[in-house]
Amino acid sequence: MVDLAKYTKELSKLFQRSDNILLVCHINPDGDAIGSQIALYQYLKAKGKIANMISPNNLQEFLKWMDGSELINIFIRNRKKSIKIISEADLIVMVDFNQANRMGEAENYIRESRAKKVVIDHHLGSCEIADLVISDPSKCSTAELIHELVGNINGMPYLDKSYAEALYVGIVTDTGNFEHGAYTSETFRTVAELFDFGIEKEKILNVVFNNFSADRMRLQGLALNKRMVILPEYRTSYIYLSKSDLAEYKHVKGDTEGFVNLPLAIKDIDFSVLFIEKDNFVKLSFRSKGSFPSNEFASKYFSGGGHLNASGGEYFDTLENTISYFLRVLREFDWKFTE
Ligand code: 5GP
Ligand code: MN
Repeated sequence: MVDLAKYTKELSKLFQRSDNILLVCHINPDGDAIGSQIALYQYLKAKGKIANMISPNNLQEFLKWMDGSELINIFIRNRKKSIKIISEADLIVMVDFNQANRMGEAENYIRESRAKKVVIDHHLGSCEIADLVISDPSKCSTAELIHELVGNINGMPYLDKSYAEALYVGIVTDTGNFEHGAYTSETFRTVAELFDFGIEKEKILNVVFNNFSADRMRLQGLALNKRMVILPEYRTSYIYLSKSDLAEYKHVKGDTEGFVNLPLAIKDIDFSVLFIEKDNFVKLSFRSKGSFPSNEFASKYFSGGGHLNASGGEYFDTLENTISYFLRVLREFDWKFTE
């Protein structure tokens, strides 16, 4: 557990001292990144601060309904304005990540900025460019952590409609609607507050989870039917999707989200890997059950990281070579899989 009281004080001071606060999320932002960013934005605005938001790249469709999402500056689409916002900020808050390179092309501008820099996150690790890192891996989501920090700073739980919806999106996306991840009784206390406040959970569930295209469902069919390999001796399953697989099913960003979780529903599978072929590299997603340290595996062999049970990385080679390399390092990792 992290001593949030100490961090609350420091963060509160930084908020007080700053007039122009920039909130930045990670590249390919998920619901927790955007939810946390928007929630904090709504709170700061309500307290009379000038606040701005930057995302390194585009938001997925399932997040664009959120109140405030239209105010997020997309760095790669609007560089000039984004660079100006970065240069004018006197405090930069990075949410839901701790590695500077996850800010994509915005990284260099943020590094050069003389603004104080804060990380608010729930991943293990430090951040070399931050003055203050508030990271609590016992939280299921950055959104949950934001709610606690904001409540502490505010002196009582802060709630308004856009803020509450944004937090709920963060919590349900990072836990797969309370199916996996580090959710606790504390999470449910937060959720209880959001429910009491009257958030429309059905509406949010439908826009976040039940809005797939038919092509996306068929791609999932292909993945499970034809592209899933089981390695019983390693209690491992992997799924690979080539560029032509994706093209055949008119893949759009986010379509493969969640595929990596599916094989964990198979009896005796503790480790699941998803390979997605990109232009000159392969993106990998890892999920595990129990104590298999998927993040250690990701950082050791695939320049990645993340949480114990959910992580990712990349490998600059062909799909075929990446799979061969994976099979080799899985053997080398020599994890004693036990029932
Ligand atoms: P996903 O498989 O959903 O893309 O990622 C799961 C988690 O793994 C993310 O929340 C993030 O913590 C971590 N992750 C994914 N890809 C990378 C990566 O390339 N580098 C690092 N450091 N972490 C990653
Ligand atoms: Mn998160």
